Amino acid sequence: MDMHPIRNIVIVGGGTAGWLTAGVIAARHQARIKAGTFSVTLVESPSVNIIGVGEGTWPTIRTTLQKIGVSETEFFRECDASFKQGGRFARWTTGAETDAYYHPLMLPHGFAEVNLAAHWLASGDPRSFCDAVCSQGTLCDDGLAPKSITTAEYDGLANYAYHLDAGKFAPFLQRHCTSKLGVRHVSADVTKVNQTEQGDIQGLETQQAGTIKGDLFIDCTGFASLLLGKTLGVPFKSCSDVLFCDTALAVQVPFERPDAPMASQTNATAQTAGWIWDIALPTRRGIGYVYSSRHSNEEEAQDVLARYVGPQIKTLKVRKIPIRGGHREIFWKNNCVAVGLAAGFLEPLESSAIVLGELSAKLIAEQMPANREVMDIVAKRFNEVTLYRWGRIIDFLKLHYCLTKRTDTQFWIDNTDPAGIPERLQNLLKLWKYQAPWFLDEFDRLEEVFPAASYQYVLYGMGFRTEVDPLDVATTESLAHQLMRENIAVTQKMRAMLPKNREIVQKIHTYGLQTI
Ligand SMILES: Cc1cc2nc3c(=O)[nH]c(=O)nc-3n(C[C@H](O)[C@H](O)[C@H](O)COP(=O)(O)OP(=O)(O)OC[C@H]3O[C@@H](n4cnc5c(N)ncnc54)[C@H](O)[C@@H]3O)c2cc1C
Repeated sequence: MDMHPIRNIVIVGGGTAGWLTAGVIAARHQARIKAGTFSVTLVESPSVNIIGVGEGTWPTIRTTLQKIGVSETEFFRECDASFKQGGRFARWTTGAETDAYYHPLMLPHGFAEVNLAAHWLASGDPRSFCDAVCSQGTLCDDGLAPKSITTAEYDGLANYAYHLDAGKFAPFLQRHCTSKLGVRHVSADVTKVNQTEQGDIQGLETQQAGTIKGDLFIDCTGFASLLLGKTLGVPFKSCSDVLFCDTALAVQVPFERPDAPMASQTNATAQTAGWIWDIALPTRRGIGYVYSSRHSNEEEAQDVLARYVGPQIKTLKVRKIPIRGGHREIFWKNNCVAVGLAAGFLEPLESSAIVLGELSAKLIAEQMPANREVMDIVAKRFNEVTLYRWGRIIDFLKLHYCLTKRTDTQFWIDNTDPAGIPERLQNLLKLWKYQAPWFLDEFDRLEEVFPAASYQYVLYGMGFRTEVDPLDVATTESLAHQLMRENIAVTQKMRAMLPKNREIVQKIHTYGLQTI
């Protein structure tokens, strides 16, 4: 039995994943850090850049930042952040110019009380599903923010996440973690990993800072996966048979004028062999074409991006980023656990990567093994939960592609081939022909990344039809009507009081948000 206590945590990598993990663990174990019985060290290469993309987040980020003690005002000011209220998916279903739907971040009104999807389907309501059940699509159409300047930090009138400058976020977290949470920062290249006979990592040899020893090592080295992948040899499981996009062309585009409207949703516009993300920050837009290199060559992809951005692309630097879609077979082996790109990456759709990193960091922090003996038990649990999450995210991302009715290119045709649709998703799609998904419907895990509401928005946004028997929903009809009426009233009220996205971000820079 190895009762060696786990006291010194060593994180390798200082990107978004590394610093978020350091912050979450250090905040959770503050008392022990202050008492000198626990330490968090982050080792980061001075020569290997962070990936520098990943600018769309999920609402979990608010709780994460709040828990590690970040001021929302400072975050807005230092990370060029703006509000994100969901995604607007254009041209994914038919490819027509008018083809668009929202996946908002708000749950359908009264979600816990009644499944409004069934009522919307049974009634033949001509409004979009999103408009019938929540306010957020309208708020986004109007370019409104989810809160006003008098709403307290991290509170919202509508649910929200952020768009942020990835190049500024990691250094911001670094300053916070080192100055407020006692995280030790070592700027050094890891050149060798020393292991025990049992395979545990004993220490890291670095070029600039000698040997760094630890009890638990967290691999946040990005695509390199230096500890879990390269050193411990955990195989990579590709998902390229399901999700085809494997290359991104990213570019930062200035606004035409400094006061140009700033969308409060991620715009995701489908193209011939993938889709373009468009994220508005106060200072610029981050735009990127994610495409399948099996279905398009780079020249065609550059043309697609140029058509979207317009003539100014000639003056801008386009960065090509290869994506290896998939994840490690397990995420925690021996005394090493991977978070962020070192654990895997699927593609940018629905901003699922940072949230998975947050949830992993939280699980590690909360389940921090007391000693080496119990670490394997925690590792087993971590692997089960994390593997489940990756699987669910793969299903959810594929849903966006496999529901398409587009047949204009091989990319879209191949996406509807059942051979590339995971069995669990195929079964759910069969079931949902007869019953609308709801929160008890196979979404049984705590902290499900994408809840049943997310599936509803995508399914019904893309024209999926569930055969609902009107008699089946008759018992909850009056409640459903009441909720839908309330939704109209709430939407009107919010439209009247919420400021524009750019306006509130400027106010946050000038006055700050209320801290209580
Ligand atoms: C095109 C694209 C778009 C994306 N869009 C989104 C999005 O909208 N939303 C979202 O949630 N996610 C997105 N992601 C994913 C997101 O960018 C990452 O999950 C996130 O940035 C975390 O990256 P990371 O910290 O794991 O890795 P990185 O940022 O690559 O950091 C790796 C770190 O490891 C260090 N390192 C490497 N080798 C060594 C060594 N030998 N010694 C010491 N240090 C070392 C590096 O110096 C660096 O600090 C996107 C990814 C891509 C590729």
